[in-house]
Amino acid sequence: MAFDVEKIREDFPILSRPLPGDRRLAYLDNGATSQKPQAVIDRMSRFWLEENANIHRGLHHLSAEATTAHEAARDTVSQAIGVADDQVLIFTRGATEAINLVANGLEGELREGDEIVVTLMEHHANFVPWQILAEKTGAIVRYISVLENGELDLEAWQAALNEKTRVAAFAHISNVLGTVNPVAEMTAIARERGIMTLVDGAQSVPHGPVNVADLGCDFFVFSGHKVYAPDGIGVLVGRSELLDRFQPYQAGGDMIDRVAVEGTTYREAPERFEAGTPFIAGALGLAAAFDYMAGIDWVAAHEHEQHLLSQATAGLKQIGGVKIWGEAPGKASVIAFTMDEAHPQDIATILDQLGVAVRTGHHCAMPLMTHFGITGTARASIAFYNNQEDIDALLDGIRRVKRMFDF
Ligand code: PLP
Repeated sequence: MAFDVEKIREDFPILSRPLPGDRRLAYLDNGATSQKPQAVIDRMSRFWLEENANIHRGLHHLSAEATTAHEAARDTVSQAIGVADDQVLIFTRGATEAINLVANGLEGELREGDEIVVTLMEHHANFVPWQILAEKTGAIVRYISVLENGELDLEAWQAALNEKTRVAAFAHISNVLGTVNPVAEMTAIARERGIMTLVDGAQSVPHGPVNVADLGCDFFVFSGHKVYAPDGIGVLVGRSELLDRFQPYQAGGDMIDRVAVEGTTYREAPERFEAGTPFIAGALGLAAAFDYMAGIDWVAAHEHEQHLLSQATAGLKQIGGVKIWGEAPGKASVIAFTMDEAHPQDIATILDQLGVAVRTGHHCAMPLMTHFGITGTARASIAFYNNQEDIDALLDGIRRVKRMFDF
């Protein structure tokens, strides 16, 4: 059966809202955040309408129900992303907090002269925490370059790993270039050398099922809001054995074992890292998003995304004067581009007049921009619910930009 994108679009109410001036919305900013299906919105409102209570601390009926639902959400998400028995899933505020949690925990593990390897295609969230960790511990950060076509320089990456390397952190998919890194291969190489790995899955989980156990990493992170769930919830999956060695990231309720004036002992992960009242409705919304995604034919969805990507890429190239940043084979459906004459902000402003939502700027990847000698790009990022009309609107808009700047 062909992929019925129009049917899928009905699940996302916002996609059919008109913009002022009766502009049709072509939402191509999915890399920044995704839209939410009705099922997620309904699950969260049901919690607040019928089930709201704080978890863990209450003996009353609502609290017990909320606690059960929260833990069921953890199970749903764990199963959906293939969390292994020796791993644990911690709810965080998002990918950023998850990476900071790991970098903070590794403070007790790293020493002066140890090395951390990151890549130049990382989002700042997977870049700056490692610099801070290095500052705190005296470790050194090594930065691995990106080839002209947007692929990671794998040879350089492998060559950078040595007996001092303790951690390698890398994106599953680049939020700018769309490059899909061979993470299972990379984690296998690192594991052989006893190097811990963190995979940033913020841009991969939105494009279909990911099996964390198969990726072979020590830590995996992603954000709810990019996977059709709310903002303010995210996930860290980590090996329990490592996490239980970490000092807590935040302290407070629910993460303690026993508190006394003589000193405090902590629970194991996940509770150890979930201090305070969590975003309960967010966890339920996240589980609902995975339930929703389980109903998607991801083989067909991937083909659909790739079809739109190639239409958009070919169309942009045909217009002329457009440079696409990142054309690695098998890349995901994101196109970062610049135009010879028009500034990315002009591009986005003109596109907005036509209802086309794209992002501009450095995309929180300044080291990558510096590497390519640019300050920013426009970026269209495609989700499975985008359709041909969205791509046509993008291309019409870019033709208009070209006419306006007359080059
Ligand atoms: N990593 C990547 C690859 C991203 O694209 C993003 C967000 O754009 C993040 C990390 C940070 O995600 P968040 O801001 O949801 O924590």
